[in-house]
Amino acid sequence: MTDRSKVIPSRDFRWQGIDVRRYKEQDGDGTSTEPAGFLGVIRQTLLGQEHEELGLELRYFEVEAAGYSSLEKHRHPHTVVIVRGDGHVILGQEIQPVAAFDCVYVAPWTMHQFRAGRDEPLGFLCVVDRDRDRPQPATAEERRAIEESEEFRRVFGGGS
Ligand code: MN
Repeated sequence: MTDRSKVIPSRDFRWQGIDVRRYKEQDGDGTSTEPAGFLGVIRQTLLGQEHEELGLELRYFEVEAAGYSSLEKHRHPHTVVIVRGDGHVILGQEIQPVAAFDCVYVAPWTMHQFRAGRDEPLGFLCVVDRDRDRPQPATAEERRAIEESEEFRRVFGGGS
């Protein structure tokens, strides 16, 4: 197709010809013993990287059962549609249950994390601005405040 319009076929939540990547590249020299702050997440960038005309990127993320994305905030917003499984999303002080086809908006500077349920992966499509600021991971203090909150204990029980 001369205009680069296309269909990317999918099967079982994988898209043909699209690399399945680690969620985030390792920071620094890779020798840090700090926990990475996320568990069992893969990423496929479906649209945007090779499309200068697009002001956005469309990605698919999948968090394995009992896994979680990084607890982070940033200026750019996220628009998300859950497409697989269920789990919870942390949005600032709130923790909301999510399941397939729920739509999530993460506003600028909202601390957020996606957490899969115990039994199956949580998969979601996420649209972001092509040009965006780097995520700022939660500080130890911010993480502790959330993980020791009554809301967190009510939903997840003890620690993370
Ligand atoms: Mn984010």
